[in-house]
Amino acid sequence: MPFSLPPLPYAENALEPHISAKTMSFHYGKHHAGYVAKLNELAAGTPHDTQALEEIVRSAAKDKGPLFNNAAQVWNHTFFWNSMRPKGGGEPKGELLDLIKGSFGSLDKLKEEFKNQGLAQFGSGWVWLVRDGDKLKVTKTANAESPLVTGHKPLVTCDVWEHAYYLDYQNRRADFLQTFLTSLVNWDFAAQQLKNG
Ligand code: FE
Repeated sequence: MPFSLPPLPYAENALEPHISAKTMSFHYGKHHAGYVAKLNELAAGTPHDTQALEEIVRSAAKDKGPLFNNAAQVWNHTFFWNSMRPKGGGEPKGELLDLIKGSFGSLDKLKEEFKNQGLAQFGSGWVWLVRDGDKLKVTKTANAESPLVTGHKPLVTCDVWEHAYYLDYQNRRADFLQTFLTSLVNWDFAAQQLKNG
């Protein structure tokens, strides 16, 4: 099998009380694992089984078919796990903080924009902090869509599919987004993405 489920960067219960071990066990162990299994099924015996995941996401994007959906969901979820950490939140530092201030005015303004875009995504999707040229911006994508395709550099993301929060927050997506920004977001990961170019 060319594509494997990357290990979670922390234990399934490490984000409690903000995200329960039960949510993680379904979200990672069933949803994310399911996308990996389906991707392997679709890629088997085709030239895709030797392609890098990001290459498949970019090249299959125009079709928006099952290959794109499963490959992008594998990539997006791995990026989402890395976008969080136990005892996350707080203040970013250095270049990232400067860019946030230059692009949004303040960290609070960025958080407000991130929350608004996450709430504005009708149905399933993702909200992202991305670098677009020399500025940062917040974008949202529907279903499996990813800023990899639009040439923006993703720095962090939050999954706003209902499966990400329903067991813990029911329909309260705003509370989930607020908690993500206050207690979960991994600014060190975002800073690392910035450094990677
Ligand atoms: Fe998800």
